[in-house]
Amino acid sequence: MNDTYLEYQAEILRMTDRDPKRCMICGKCTASCPAFSEMDFHPHQIVGMVERCEFDVLETVEGLWHCMSCMACSERCPRDVQPARFMDAVRQWRIRKQGGEHLHPQQVPEKIDEATPQQAIAAAFRKYRK
Ligand code: SF4
Ligand code: SF4
Repeated sequence: MNDTYLEYQAEILRMTDRDPKRCMICGKCTASCPAFSEMDFHPHQIVGMVERCEFDVLETVEGLWHCMSCMACSERCPRDVQPARFMDAVRQWRIRKQGGEHLHPQQVPEKIDEATPQQAIAAAFRKYRK
């Protein structure tokens, strides 16, 4: 196993405080996701990729950016895997890998227009006030 990928996995498990091995691939998270049709990979697949250390694929997943942090997937999960935490943690991992090119809180207002989902604005507010 690639040591760097194991470090990435440890970082994401620390951020989520959840064990992806608990996932029984029931698909309830993905079935409840309002952004399903916009995603190339879905919440249950993201959990599985973290569990299998598939960071080469996670580096390219675009569906992460369509997640609105609505938490519906986490509420539906019968195993308390909290897939929304994995979506958020993998996003943060991707942003941190970009080093200095990540989005600063001050840049958020200019990214918002009338097409921005309200859940996305609420999620950004939750993240940046911590
Ligand atoms: S938190 Fe993201 S992945 Fe989970 S149901 Fe909502 S939009 Fe889908
Ligand atoms: S709902 Fe929970 S147990 Fe079912 S596939 Fe999603 S993460 Fe896995």
